[in-house]
Amino acid sequence: MSNRKKAPFRRTKIVATIGPATGTPEVIADLIKAGMNIARLNLSHGTLDDHAEYIARVRSESDRAGIPVAILIDIPGPKYRSGPLSNPVVQLRKGEPITLTTKQVVGNSSLVSVNLPTFPDDVKPGDIILVDDGSLQLKCDTVKDTDVGCTVLVGGPLTAGRGIAVPGKTSSMPFMTGQLQAYIEFAVSQKPDFIALSFVSRAEDLIQVRDLIKKKNADLPLVAKIERGTAVKVFDAILAESDAVMVARGDLGVDIPLERLPLVQKEIIHKSNRAGKPVITATQMLESMINSPRPTRAEVSDVSNAIFDGTDAVMLSAETSIGKYPVQAVSMMAAVAVETEKDLPYDQWIAERDSWLSNQTEELISYNACLTARRLESAAIVAFTSSGSTAGRVSKYRPSTPILAISPNIDTCRRLILNWGVQAQQISTPETVDDLFSTAVDICKKINLAETGQNIIVTGGIPLGKAGTTNLLKVQEID
Ligand code: PEP
Repeated sequence: MSNRKKAPFRRTKIVATIGPATGTPEVIADLIKAGMNIARLNLSHGTLDDHAEYIARVRSESDRAGIPVAILIDIPGPKYRSGPLSNPVVQLRKGEPITLTTKQVVGNSSLVSVNLPTFPDDVKPGDIILVDDGSLQLKCDTVKDTDVGCTVLVGGPLTAGRGIAVPGKTSSMPFMTGQLQAYIEFAVSQKPDFIALSFVSRAEDLIQVRDLIKKKNADLPLVAKIERGTAVKVFDAILAESDAVMVARGDLGVDIPLERLPLVQKEIIHKSNRAGKPVITATQMLESMINSPRPTRAEVSDVSNAIFDGTDAVMLSAETSIGKYPVQAVSMMAAVAVETEKDLPYDQWIAERDSWLSNQTEELISYNACLTARRLESAAIVAFTSSGSTAGRVSKYRPSTPILAISPNIDTCRRLILNWGVQAQQISTPETVDDLFSTAVDICKKINLAETGQNIIVTGGIPLGKAGTTNLLKVQEID
């Protein structure tokens, strides 16, 4: 008999980026055991072959462990980056001149190439240019054809592929490029559960990508990465076209004043919660764990506070892709989430979210499932759902009660992995309403969510199996 302790129930989901530090089957298996719910493949780094191999390994280790793990492919957008250098690291020195050029040259400490041809159009003399998330700073002195002449304000080491940003400026680079299309083609071929899009700045960017995916006879949920000030300004329109959102704090923290970042994070999370769309909080959450087995106090507070803000998921980037302690980082995030969830203001949330209700049956049933479960101390809320929308709506009202989605649709089950508090099981469509109730009870007992003497709340729709018909709420005693 295994003496491994059952992991405590956790509502907040964990996204972990797979990379060289985590790409082997053994480490992937350990990440899954530690609590990774969604594996992120960041196409900005590594080769497509590497990513295809990582995806195959995540799938087989997830099957082996019997723990579902969703796949999120993160697609690079139009971002200026430093080109190849003559040495792996070159030093930029304060006060020295340096030229950024769109000519394809191998760079050094006074001449560095930039990957995209529009760079000189997006900068003017006097602008501050931030390199490598702001760890290096340049001031633009001149712009002439392909060359941007600068002075180093803050020096330090530079490597190839670092981000180059002019804060607050809209890039004139078009969103839809041949490169983006090639990445989407790769992503579609891998049948992921989510596609994340970098540097979206308008709702139309998502519409274009959705059309492209449709032309490839696929239908994949899109996660809009909010990493531009311009995207924050038109966030409502972007949210309306997205299936989920990521607060991509790395690039966002370069593009807007850093001191605004916590406030913008709260605003994005609040609006996403209200729209019932999952939101991921990303970047530097446990950054020091790239090199250290324990995070800082501030990092632990950051993870906890994002959960208090209402995030559905928290994300690890370099901590797991190239860090020295990837499994410990996932375990730490899981531990912080479990502890935080003991003290979330569930009563306050449900009371406040009453004002979000419209006179729509699905919303009212979902809200009242949460309210009833809280008052009756039910063991679970079981949402029978074809498209996933009822389970997503229940999650929106943030019940302390575990949410079990049961669905005949495997894609629905996999997509719900991202939603706060939801676990999902595939079932065949029940023939009668009584079958639905007995299936809900059987699964709850089987996965130890509920036992004899307790009750569960079941929501569903009649006729059974028709999407968008949630109209039933049952308090089901378990005997
Ligand atoms: C970010 O900028 O915070 C982010 C998640 O995007 P990327 O890792 O692609 O830079």
